[in-house]
Amino acid sequence: MFDTLSERLGGVFDRLRGRGALTEEDVTEALREVRVALIEADVALPVARSFVAKVKERAVGREVLKSITPGQQVVKIVHDVLVETLGGSEGDHELNLNRPAPVPVLMVGLQGSGKTTSTAKIALRLQKTEKKKVLMASLDTRRPAAMEQLKVLGEQAGVKTLPIVAGQSALQIANRAMEAARLQGFDVVMLDTAGRLSIDEQLMAEVSDIHRATDPAETLLVLDALTGQDAVQTAERFKERMPVTGVVLTRLDGDGRGGAALSMREVTGAPIKFAGVGEKIDALDAFDPERMAGRILG
Ligand code: GDP
Repeated sequence: MFDTLSERLGGVFDRLRGRGALTEEDVTEALREVRVALIEADVALPVARSFVAKVKERAVGREVLKSITPGQQVVKIVHDVLVETLGGSEGDHELNLNRPAPVPVLMVGLQGSGKTTSTAKIALRLQKTEKKKVLMASLDTRRPAAMEQLKVLGEQAGVKTLPIVAGQSALQIANRAMEAARLQGFDVVMLDTAGRLSIDEQLMAEVSDIHRATDPAETLLVLDALTGQDAVQTAERFKERMPVTGVVLTRLDGDGRGGAALSMREVTGAPIKFAGVGEKIDALDAFDPERMAGRILG
């Protein structure tokens, strides 16, 4: 995902490190190249701008240029700003399920973003690493195939799904899922909502009704990283309608340009909580800004 960006930044940094002394002009020139590299990686323009401004302020302000390894220092500052841009504070990227069981988690997003797959991946992770008892339910009443898909994924992953009952509304299914979870002692209920190919009023109304009725502890918006700036815009639209508590960015294993990952936090304020890194049921990483910054800087 970040190969091209890594390569470009690597080139800039090699030149910086290669020099002994650095002038402010050297830094300005290097940062201009960094800005171009970010924009070419599809990072939102305001994010690229503020990124470079932050690095410059720190690089010039901290007497970095007079140190014995100025190039190295500038690279360190870029790393720190990258972590901040991806990140936010510690703990931000964890699921907050601190509530009496059963805890509802709402999965929202466009059709094809990887929502159903991510639902099963997160459910499996909660079961395996946190020993939670998880129930999954598909609320996609319009697409029986989507319900079937969640059921099959559940069977593969060993995660229980709510039995499918034809003719119920999304809200009725959500209520049935919560009731079943209460009676059967589940800890977490993952609600996989219906998606659409694009955002429309009907989708937003339905999802926000479900949100209001279920009052989820987490509302996770699933976004396809390959769609770049579109993913960021989709996030903005969803955030207008409901309090999205976190983002699941899928297809980070693909050969997109990575801009969505870098812009998401600053543009939408929503922390990325998980990264989808493949089609397999265990291809999910907890999002770690330090590690991601490390990958980008190589
Ligand atoms: P939904 O319509 O949003 O529920 O999307 P699905 O969960 O059905 O996913 C659509 C396709 O994307 C499926 O073929 C998934 O296997 C694939 N997919 C989901 N997440 C990832 C990911 O992180 N990486 C890759 N390479 N494929 C993914």
